[in-house]
Amino acid sequence: MELVQESPYRFRIDREAPMQVPGVVFAVPELLPDVGADRSLDQVANVATLPGIVEASYAMPDVHWGYGFPIGGVAATDVAAGGVVSPGGVGFDISCGVRLLTAELDRAELPRVIDALMDGLDPAIPRGMGRGAVWQLADRAELDAVLRGGSRYAVEQGYGVPRDLARCEDGGAVTDADPAQVSERAVQRGQGQVGSLGSGNHFLEVQAVEEVYDEPVAAAFGLRQGQVCVMIHCGSRGLGHQICTDYVRVMERVMPRHGIEVPDRQLACAPVDSSEGRAYLAAMAAAANYARANRQLLTDAARRVFTRVAGTDLDLVYDVSHNLAKIEEHELDGGARRLCVHRKGATRALPPGHPDLPADLLDAGQPVLIPGSMGTSSYVLTGVAGNPAFASTCHGAGRTRSRGEASRAVRGQDVRRDLAARGVAVRGASWKGLAEEMPDAYKDVSAVVEASRGAGLCRLVARLTPLGVVKG
Ligand code: 5GP
Ligand code: MN
Ligand code: MN
Repeated sequence: MELVQESPYRFRIDREAPMQVPGVVFAVPELLPDVGADRSLDQVANVATLPGIVEASYAMPDVHWGYGFPIGGVAATDVAAGGVVSPGGVGFDISCGVRLLTAELDRAELPRVIDALMDGLDPAIPRGMGRGAVWQLADRAELDAVLRGGSRYAVEQGYGVPRDLARCEDGGAVTDADPAQVSERAVQRGQGQVGSLGSGNHFLEVQAVEEVYDEPVAAAFGLRQGQVCVMIHCGSRGLGHQICTDYVRVMERVMPRHGIEVPDRQLACAPVDSSEGRAYLAAMAAAANYARANRQLLTDAARRVFTRVAGTDLDLVYDVSHNLAKIEEHELDGGARRLCVHRKGATRALPPGHPDLPADLLDAGQPVLIPGSMGTSSYVLTGVAGNPAFASTCHGAGRTRSRGEASRAVRGQDVRRDLAARGVAVRGASWKGLAEEMPDAYKDVSAVVEASRGAGLCRLVARLTPLGVVKG
């Protein structure tokens, strides 16, 4: 794989048949994937072959290997020009994402309540494999309401306040969801998991604002130095996973009929404007709504604990996905085009003035929430004008070690002890899960965020430090 450095934060993979466009990797040399151990740059080149792809196959600085598409990949296809949608370009955890909440509580007040908070959150946040959820849905009709209504439905049922919805991407629910496109198997897997974190990479974390880089924007987001926050990372559980599995199969089958060839079966896709493409997008939207309801219910559970233990409510800063395909309008070659923008392990980052922003964030831009690891900083960023990757940026630190490698390298008990020694209280679901998630399994999040800023993908707003983590 030949990488040409174009600028300090940008590398190019030249277009070679059958690539339709070049690959572009935003990174500094130290962050580039280790070619021997991680094939994600080959995946960037493979994605560049997809029918209808425009501009480039992009990789964010946290890029690493994923199913077909790299994690940290962004690819947009032109709907009118036969552009495709690919389930692998969204990933198995459809609409996995992050929300950040603020508490009316200062870091200095936390030592008094942190143990009680963590002991309250531990049983209140269902997690791990098959260990219950906030909601036990009575029947398919109730699940369908979640699939159509997302966070909006959860708020209607009393699990939140209307202001929450103003601070959610898409107002808390994607409009074009169709539960009829979701298989019975996916429904079965989803029925008992609404309001649960899931496995080890997912978490609910108590944090504090450690550093503010941009006072006015931080103030617009409701963030100040020393403020206690809660970050929630989770997705669409077994339901989203099953939908991805189902539609990879469907698309593998119909690709020849659409005259599509891909260099890797995991890139299975269909034109956006085909019955299979439309069905996938409708099922994907249903899973996206499930993920948003999931984050809303866990928010409600956390609010109850904070109110009871610390006498403070939690205000939503923002909720944004990092695994999604969206039909968006973008300027291309001087004209507005309808594009299917795949972001997989990449976060949408709307610039100031964008019409999809809530009115009170118009001047500040969209909050972008970047988890680091349970032992390092996390970041709050904002979108900037002139973003070169369809208003997208990184989504996390990104893995450098696989789960298997990490769990062979350390014991969960030692991870927990090390974190406690550094002032981070841990409530895990399993020792193995903690080992897999050791902070050393991830890249340096500060370097990732700095490269994203340098590449013109975003601006830094604040840095958060972990104080307690409820781990999936
Ligand atoms: P993913 O969605 O790719 O599984 O994870 C997104 C990012 O979350 C990872 O790249 C990693 O940087 C971050 N992360 C994983 N576990 C934790 C955690 O316990 N706490 C925080 N703050 N970040 C985490
Ligand atoms: Mn996920
Ligand atoms: Mn995620």
